[in-house]
Amino acid sequence: MKLTVLGATGSIGVSTLDVVARHPERFEVVALTGHSQVEVLAAQCRQFRPAYAVVGSATAAQQLAGLLGDSGVRTEVLHGADALVAVAGLPEVDVVMAAIVGAAGLPPTLAAARAGKRILLANKEALVMAGAVFMSEARRAGALLLPIDSEHNAIFQSMPYDYSGDMARGGIRRILLTASGGPFRTTPLDALTQITPEQAVAHPNWVMGRKISVDSATMMNKGLEVIEAHWLFNAPAEKIEVVIHPQSVIHSLVDYEDGSVLAQLGNPDMRTPIAHALAWPQRIESGVAPLDLFAVGQLNFERPDPARFPCLDLAYRALRAEGNAAAVLNAANEVAVAAFLERRLPFLGIAGLIAATLDAVPAAALPDLAAVLEADRQGRTTATELLARTGGTGR
Ligand code: NAD
Ligand code: MG
Repeated sequence: MKLTVLGATGSIGVSTLDVVARHPERFEVVALTGHSQVEVLAAQCRQFRPAYAVVGSATAAQQLAGLLGDSGVRTEVLHGADALVAVAGLPEVDVVMAAIVGAAGLPPTLAAARAGKRILLANKEALVMAGAVFMSEARRAGALLLPIDSEHNAIFQSMPYDYSGDMARGGIRRILLTASGGPFRTTPLDALTQITPEQAVAHPNWVMGRKISVDSATMMNKGLEVIEAHWLFNAPAEKIEVVIHPQSVIHSLVDYEDGSVLAQLGNPDMRTPIAHALAWPQRIESGVAPLDLFAVGQLNFERPDPARFPCLDLAYRALRAEGNAAAVLNAANEVAVAAFLERRLPFLGIAGLIAATLDAVPAAALPDLAAVLEADRQGRTTATELLARTGGTGR
């Protein structure tokens, strides 16, 4: 199988290449992309010898070409958004790992869908922004979408093998999406005002990129995942329930009409869903240690507290509103998280800024990519203005 890895230098990208390296007879890397971590990408190019590497700027491209030239690697170096789209749709590529973070990942992920690739979808923001457009393009081109997000991968594994998007026909009552609750599940509410970026990115169970780590702390990550589950499994909002499960051993569950509840369990390590999707329908070794149930001991479950995690309700609200709301939610969240990481917005201001942005942007339909990108732009400019004008309080 021939592979493009979008976002190779990130947390998911590195885990993907770790699995790929365990099966050299099975996978061939055709293209790798990274934004600014030129040294990491150069090392990956030396190891995997891709035909193409893509970076974010001309300067980074020059640096990478220099590093590769010095070590005799003949990878062609490209840069910019068009190059990302190009390597996602190369005719010789079978599989595209979509692991760029945020809205920047949408155009290349959509290009992979239009080219009918097997898409390993980690970039949940693409689906949150453009769910309807993305799913219809993927269907039209015969692309195979395999979820990498651990919850959605677990749901996929727990669904009927021939599931076609009809929950009633599959005998499915609801989807139970598990959440760790993040680092502040038990922090006293009044202490949340003091949270720093360093505390927010230190997740108890998972090692991830900075943006998704903050999303996990606010539980916006779970909100985005509710929307992601809606599109992947054609599940209405009321049939997706979030369950806090602090051990992160059960990665999600499917509740059937006959009373059966099927789940996927494993150590919290993204190489499991990555290996699952790379080899599907086969199973391959991933490097993940076997699950030791005796060491785990207990599995606990809690209902999420809406006062602690207002972002979760905002995401349900956006999903129910349809149209541009989820794209606006996602854009406002990206602005809010970036501002929090730069210490321009307090932790508790994240939800407030997103809510104010949702209130301010008028509803609109999202028939095509142009409309999606316009909703994203509106969400970003509105959130940025509100942040500048009100410090994120929206008042
Ligand atoms: P990360 O920050 O570690 O890596 C992001 C990657 O995207 C890097 O390769 C970076 O170079 C690239 N990138 C960033 N900005 C870019 C831009 N403007 N243009 C092109 N490339 C750009 O993030 P991550 O944790 O690996 O997450 C990647 C995606 O996977 C996210 O959408 C996240 O929600 C999703 N995801 C991650 C995990 C996890 O465990 N890390 C789990 C589930 C889902
Ligand atoms: Mg997840």
